[in-house]
Amino acid sequence: MTHALLVIDVQNDFCPGGALAVAGGDEIVAPINAMMEEFDAVILTQDWHPAGHSSFASSHKGKSPFELIDMPYGPQVLWPDHCVQDSKGAAFHPELRTDGDLILRKGFRSGIDSYSAFFENDHQTPTGLKGYLETRGITRLTLVGLATDFCVHYSAVDAARLGFDVTVRMDACRAIDMDGSLAAAEQAMRDAGVTLA
Ligand SMILES: [Zn+2]
Repeated sequence: MTHALLVIDVQNDFCPGGALAVAGGDEIVAPINAMMEEFDAVILTQDWHPAGHSSFASSHKGKSPFELIDMPYGPQVLWPDHCVQDSKGAAFHPELRTDGDLILRKGFRSGIDSYSAFFENDHQTPTGLKGYLETRGITRLTLVGLATDFCVHYSAVDAARLGFDVTVRMDACRAIDMDGSLAAAEQAMRDAGVTLA
């Protein structure tokens, strides 16, 4: 019982029609549901922001979505308001199976974003997922979900750095891909020892 499927942020706001829609984001729902049977454990993450979160452009006077700003913890892309706690946009895609073992929420602290399922964007504040996986004896992770170049990328790199055996199923991910972010993410994942399948 050592191989877990980690399903990243398959939520309404990241699917077509959502506030931060990723092209084709809904196309991966059926393949992910089908894959769940193959794993010893299934863990879903859920982006979960309070209203007025610091990653929202609307929280910064004069700033627009997709601008980059400097936060105390480093550079941060500003996003449209998305995945506000308890909103329809924050809910999982209605056809996604959510009968997994664990739902991990992230990005709930107003002053810091969390792309990775393991650490917030200061790369230091833990989410607790490492301890959960270790205490369950899980050593292998397969990642799928949204978006390839942000939350999947940062989760995969952190997982590899923490010593997990990590594969990203690229066919079950979709990317935002702005300013070459997908190519950069693929390189960073390979450099960290992640298998892109
Ligand atoms: Zn977010």
